[in-house]
Formats: sequence, C-alpha cells, structure tokens
Amino acid sequence: MNPYENLQDKRLRPRLLKAEQKICLARLLDLAGDYLRDGYTYSRKSYTFTDDSQEAPLAEAAPDQAALLSRADSLEALKVEIQHCQGCPLHTGRIHAVPGEGASQPLVLVIGEGPGADEDASGRPFVGKAGQLLDRMLEAVDLSRERNCFIANVVKCRPPNNRDPLPEEIAACAPFLDRQLALLKPRMILCVGRVAMQSLLHTDEGIGRLRGKLTVYKGFSLLGTYHPSALLRDASLKRAAWEDLKILRDHLTALDKQEP
Ligand code: SF4
Repeated sequence: MNPYENLQDKRLRPRLLKAEQKICLARLLDLAGDYLRDGYTYSRKSYTFTDDSQEAPLAEAAPDQAALLSRADSLEALKVEIQHCQGCPLHTGRIHAVPGEGASQPLVLVIGEGPGADEDASGRPFVGKAGQLLDRMLEAVDLSRERNCFIANVVKCRPPNNRDPLPEEIAACAPFLDRQLALLKPRMILCVGRVAMQSLLHTDEGIGRLRGKLTVYKGFSLLGTYHPSALLRDASLKRAAWEDLKILRDHLTALDKQEP
C-alpha cells in the first residue's frame, strides 16, 4: 500500500520507488558526477536499498496533509478546512470537528486537549460542565471568549471514548494550531491540562510540575494550569488554579505596560 495515499492532493504524494529503481538512479547520478568532475568513470561499492513501500509509516504522511490544508489566510477559511479535514483517523468518528471559537484578536488563546462528547455534538469548544467552569475561571480575571479570548484544542476531533489523543493524531493536527497562532497572535497562551501541556512542550512531566510557570512557546508567552475537568474531579486543585490565573492576569498587565 502507498503510505501517502491519504494525501488528498495527488501531486504531493511522493513517488514510491522499488529498490532496483533506486540503484539505477544512484548509478546514474554517479555517472553524472564522474562526467562533471573529470570524465573518468570511478568504480564504487554496490548499493543496498529497500522498497519505499516498506519504509514510510502511514502516521508520517498525515502531518503533510494537515500542513497543506493549513494555509488559510483567515480564521473563517481555516475553520472550513478543519471541518473538512480527514488528516487523521479521528475524522471517522466525529459528529463535528471543533475548530475553536472566540475573539479574532484575543489577549489569550486557551488551548485544551480535544473535544469531548458535548463539544463533538455541538461543534463548539468547552461547552460541557468543564467548559462552563472554564468560562467562570476566565471571567474571574476579566477574560471571556466573547470579548478577549479564543478557545481551541490540540486536536480538533473527538478521540473515541474520551481517550487521550495519540501522538500521531496530535502531530497531524498541529499545523492547524500553528495556523491559529499565526492568525490570532494572542498576547498569551493559557494551556489547560496535562495532555495539552505535554504535547506543546514535548515533555512527559506531570501537570503538577508544569503548571504555574511562565514559558515561551513559538514566541508566545505560555502558562499552564489544570484542566477544568480535573478541578471538577478534585476541588482541592482549585486554589492552585486560582494562583495560576493570577499569574496570567499579572503577566498580561505587565505586557500592557510594556506597550509603547
Ligand atoms: Fe484533521 Fe485534526 Fe480532525 Fe485529525 S483531529 S481529522 S488532523 S482536524
């Protein structure tokens, strides 16, 4: 099977070569090099190649497709691309893709891990109980998705049975988040939950160690905190989450003061 078959644009599918075709190509290049150097034909060791179809895993093809789809020059165009994306297997189980929503020039881009059942059903991010809590948390520091936040996820389609998104699914979807960052240009990123933090920062540290520390992600200030679902499960985490929100607010104020 051609592992790049899921690339919708056939022109972008790399041509798969058999081992003997590669050997011919290598010998041809050798001859061309000899000709350009001094015209003598030099002897070389024999080549060993394998057929391409045995080499490239399917998961590696998916990010190329999403990258292709993420050249949108507006949020609206990007939304449409995400809604039609088939860049990873998560598209097969979704009711709706969930591109994200909020202010087009936000102070804060909130990033969670992925849609749950309520979000899948509605096509909107963070609309269940956890979403309502997130809205209250944001409101406590004068933020809201209506006025000055945009809310998105690292994967835009719901993983089955609410499992964590797989690394290859996150990789396939990452160009969309990159594009959102480029279009939104938020002052700060608020990353909620372990999965989102680990996938953005490429670490396996626990959220307890990652939260509450300002860092930089792709040129943007980033702060991590607990996912609102975790706060619903364990109310004792709320105090730490509140401390994180105060850091967020203070940093936004400091950035404001730096403005010319
Ligand atoms: Fe496409 Fe992302 Fe949905 Fe996968 S999760 S199908 S890459 S939009």
